[in-house]
Amino acid sequence: MINKIILLILISCSLHTFAQKNREFKISIVDPSNLLDAEMKSNLTFAFNMQYPGFASADGYRTKREVILEVANSETESIAAKAGEIKVNSNWVMGKSLKKINNELKDALTKNWSFYSTKKHKGYKLTFISKDPNLDPAVRQNLIDTYFEIYPTLVKTFNNKSTKDVLFVVDTAYKAVAEASGNRILFSAGYMKAHPTDIDVVTHETMHIVQGYGYSAGPVWLTEGISDYIRYKYGVDNVGSKWSLPAFNSKQNYTNSYRITARFFAWLEKNVKPGLVATLDQELRAHQYTAQSWAKLTGKNIDQLWTDYSSNPDQVDLKYSDKQSK
Ligand SMILES: [Zn+2]
Repeated sequence: MINKIILLILISCSLHTFAQKNREFKISIVDPSNLLDAEMKSNLTFAFNMQYPGFASADGYRTKREVILEVANSETESIAAKAGEIKVNSNWVMGKSLKKINNELKDALTKNWSFYSTKKHKGYKLTFISKDPNLDPAVRQNLIDTYFEIYPTLVKTFNNKSTKDVLFVVDTAYKAVAEASGNRILFSAGYMKAHPTDIDVVTHETMHIVQGYGYSAGPVWLTEGISDYIRYKYGVDNVGSKWSLPAFNSKQNYTNSYRITARFFAWLEKNVKPGLVATLDQELRAHQYTAQSWAKLTGKNIDQLWTDYSSNPDQVDLKYSDKQSK
């Protein structure tokens, strides 16, 4: 028991990335011939509770939370594991230390991914998982490099309390572009294949981690507009990905979100109040933002500000980051 407690402490430190509640996951052991004794079952269950939540969190997209562990001596000589299913050989379990079972379960789960790495630099950590065997290694490296280039800046500038332990998952089953939840960013494998230069997706998505507004702090267009404004201002290579803020036209509105809202913010920063976006970001995080925030900070409400922008939209001089010219 003491050994288990020590191991629990060690592993929970190393699995800090994957903070998950174990009780959300369930294991059922199927052992029709009664080949496992109580201690073997207890060790397997313990290793499952240690490893599977982290695997599921990293595996990401609709990973099964209920798992059948089956004694299947004819199918494996040791252990095989994937989402929802673990198979073990009873002879392999017999006499194995808890530590060994734990490590080998981890290896068996990791084998489900095409690529797995962790890197630490100056206090920041990135775990990178690809479920796409065809992910271009150059794109992979660019995503990793962009994290270490941009994320520390965003954390220091906007929210020092942000996590320094981030997980990137490139998933073939995920069909949108990318999304952030908690400390994990999910990238669509298909999107990255079609848009290999769009590395500032990392800037937009890691800004969502920094934002950390929680639920109903403000409208979605504001959250997304801020993230795209930050991509515009801090992105590492917007020229390289041919990303730009679309020109103003009279059909637009600030609620259009993303780049349209971001261009409005660039105009507000230049013509109305430098630092406005950072202040809004703070208010949102503190859950102090209201529709009256605009008037309080600028003297005008959002509709009046948009009208002013509409009457003179080109009074802003847009500059884009360009890796080539660095
Ligand atoms: Zn977004």
